[in-house]
Amino acid sequence: MTKSYDAIVIGAGVIGAAVALGLARKGLSVVSVDRLPAAGYGSTSGSCAIVRPYYSTVDGAALGWESHFYWRDWRAFLGADDERGLARYVNCGCLRLKSPANGFLESTVRLMNEIGCPYEEWSPDEVLARMPGVVLDSFGEAKAIDDPRFGQAEGPPLPGGVFFPHGGYVNDPQLASHNLQRAAEAAGAEFRFNVTVSAIRRDKGRVAGVSLDGGEDIDAPVVVNVAGPHSYKINAMAGVEAGMNTKTRALRHEVCHVPAPKGVDYEGRGFVFNDGETGIYIRPEIGNHILIGSEDPPCDDRQWVDPDDFNRDFSEQWRVQVMRLAQRMPELGIPSRSKGVVELYDVSDDWIPIYDKSDLPGFYMAVGTSGNQFKNAPIVGEMMAELITACEAGHDHDAEPIGFHLRNVNRDVCLGFYSRRRQVNQDSSFSVLG
Ligand SMILES: Cc1cc2nc3c(=O)[nH]c(=O)nc-3n(C[C@H](O)[C@H](O)[C@H](O)COP(=O)(O)OP(=O)(O)OC[C@H]3O[C@@H](n4cnc5c(N)ncnc54)[C@H](O)[C@@H]3O)c2cc1C
Repeated sequence: MTKSYDAIVIGAGVIGAAVALGLARKGLSVVSVDRLPAAGYGSTSGSCAIVRPYYSTVDGAALGWESHFYWRDWRAFLGADDERGLARYVNCGCLRLKSPANGFLESTVRLMNEIGCPYEEWSPDEVLARMPGVVLDSFGEAKAIDDPRFGQAEGPPLPGGVFFPHGGYVNDPQLASHNLQRAAEAAGAEFRFNVTVSAIRRDKGRVAGVSLDGGEDIDAPVVVNVAGPHSYKINAMAGVEAGMNTKTRALRHEVCHVPAPKGVDYEGRGFVFNDGETGIYIRPEIGNHILIGSEDPPCDDRQWVDPDDFNRDFSEQWRVQVMRLAQRMPELGIPSRSKGVVELYDVSDDWIPIYDKSDLPGFYMAVGTSGNQFKNAPIVGEMMAELITACEAGHDHDAEPIGFHLRNVNRDVCLGFYSRRRQVNQDSSFSVLG
């Protein structure tokens, strides 16, 4: 027998589980379906789960700043228990170095002032005293490893940094997704794992449900695409790509996991750290380890892949990222064995997500999260629930985009910012920084 719901959410990653929670809290009967065996087993499981307020647009920054309040009060937000325990938010703070490559962070400081987000300007001495193991040599723009100038200091030392006291990371992104699943179930949602959506069904000009591999159909007047790096495949199934100015595709990324330099207590004393010159970001990891990700400098090739067929082995990229950190942290050892994760971002054309309806009535999408939306998942769940219930009640969101109130930072965001029909946003960093 075909089962019917008010809404089907495709994908139970951190954003999908949050959307299921948001819709269930609005009173909809929801089923979340995922091809993998548990919540957060897709690209979310490889996330660095950094929480930071600096983005290149004011809306991006406001959301990032708002998100830390949700993680800080995670238990209260969830309002439900999880037998596996709750993910933990570590508010260690975030430090960005000022450099010519990032305009000495002048636009970041301007945005922080605009949204009222606290920050501190640190002199070079303060950076050296408080950030263990780093040097402030200037290396110019990030370079490929075969560039003869790789690792050579040039120009005067960097003039310090900007510290953001309200930021950090979530220790276990997969567990955070499971927490959201349990909260959504407590609100009435169902989750089905090991089921793959193979078709989006239509009836009388609107979405009617999905078909699963194996022949089962599920009916619903609302279907939400939260399929992460597979988002473009689900949009193609729904036939909605022609109505989108901004599209998505899957980008392969490597994150390195290395021990901190000897004698450096990075886990205890370190911050999330962004270095625009060497093109990497890092965060503390348990066992006094460091996670190293890439800020996508222009000198690196972008590896666009098919999410069903890509190389999960480490490549030269791993060594490049570790060598880049070793420029900034000269005592860092280079391990002979590569450890970390190889995962995919679901990248939009301007590295800003698409949280929107589609041209097919009843079909919605929370996609294009571009390696930078883990932190915003709990807010996105609420935003999508607002957007979907407004549209289903007859509101024309394309003509008159709805607003969403960020209750902690006391600011409104116009959801038209995330429209599929927007022109590519030229204010974006066109990188993981959003
Ligand atoms: C290496 C890496 C580092 C990152 N670091 C950060 C960070 O520090 N801070 C930050 O804020 N963000 C970060 N991100 C981004 C963040 O993790 C993602 O934006 C977020 O996890 C995306 O969640 P999601 O639910 O949209 O996608 P996913 O977790 O990918 O979930 C999508 C789900 O859809 C399912 N699915 C796909 N197709 C189908 C189908 N046909 N049928 C059924 N199910 C299907 C998949 O199985 C998957 O579980 C990082 C991402 C990566 C990859």
